[in-house]
Amino acid sequence: MLTTLTAGPYTIRGVSIAGVHTSLLVRELGCLFDAGIAVRSLAGAENIFLSHGHADHSGALVALLGIRGLMRMTPPRVYLPAEIAEPVQAALDIFARVQRYEFKLTLVPMLPGDEQILRPDLSVRAFRTQHTGPSLGYQFFTRVPKLKPMFRDLPGREIGARRQRGDDLFDFEERNLLAYATDTLLDVLEATPSLATTRVLILECSFLDGRKDIAASRAGGHVHLDELLQKATYFENEALVLMHFSQMYSPAEVHGILEQRCPPDLWRRIRVLAPTRGAWPG
Ligand SMILES: [Zn+2]
Ligand SMILES: [Zn+2]
Repeated sequence: MLTTLTAGPYTIRGVSIAGVHTSLLVRELGCLFDAGIAVRSLAGAENIFLSHGHADHSGALVALLGIRGLMRMTPPRVYLPAEIAEPVQAALDIFARVQRYEFKLTLVPMLPGDEQILRPDLSVRAFRTQHTGPSLGYQFFTRVPKLKPMFRDLPGREIGARRQRGDDLFDFEERNLLAYATDTLLDVLEATPSLATTRVLILECSFLDGRKDIAASRAGGHVHLDELLQKATYFENEALVLMHFSQMYSPAEVHGILEQRCPPDLWRRIRVLAPTRGAWPG
């Protein structure tokens, strides 16, 4: 029932249907984006990122935590918009009373601009998305050491010696690896311009044609393909993963409409998170 695709160096596995459920696992990052569905193959990520509190993105959190408990996995860290941290904790407390068993996890409330180090080579920064309630996107980056210009002409041995001495030889350059933005207006591209140059961008595209017009799409806090195409030249990403399609389109229609409407240079880089045939799962 899950779709698996490759985007740049990442394997993305999951399901995403607007208003129904969204959960995507990026194996190489050990991260799960949203908890809209609880299945065993998505439960292994130690870091869970909630975009917002709508049930199709957060409603399966307790079931996911239950699976992790059953499999005796370490308690996950759940990153979420700070505005919903208290009610999510309260909901978990209530559900612990319902099932008479405590949930083990660490909630990490995030505000736009907040950063967290996930691994020595991986950090995440939250950015504001524009939806009908408090919502966040997440941008993953690494810091790459670059020799300071004043040392660039030195022979390797000299650099090695200075390094051993503990000299401050490096500047650190940020590389944006992957970003996740769902349940948002496309205005997020102006608010966080580095999304367009992040290596892999996972972006919602709920509506694809005139069955829903741009105004109605914007009123719900969602991206319409018409708007995305107006900005087609904006995207410099190696891969643009589109997801969170409305169930008003069949999976085959999603692929067909995107292939037909996207200019070739963009289509070549688009990955579609929808089954290639058959009906939507579930
Ligand atoms: Zn949604
Ligand atoms: Zn939503």
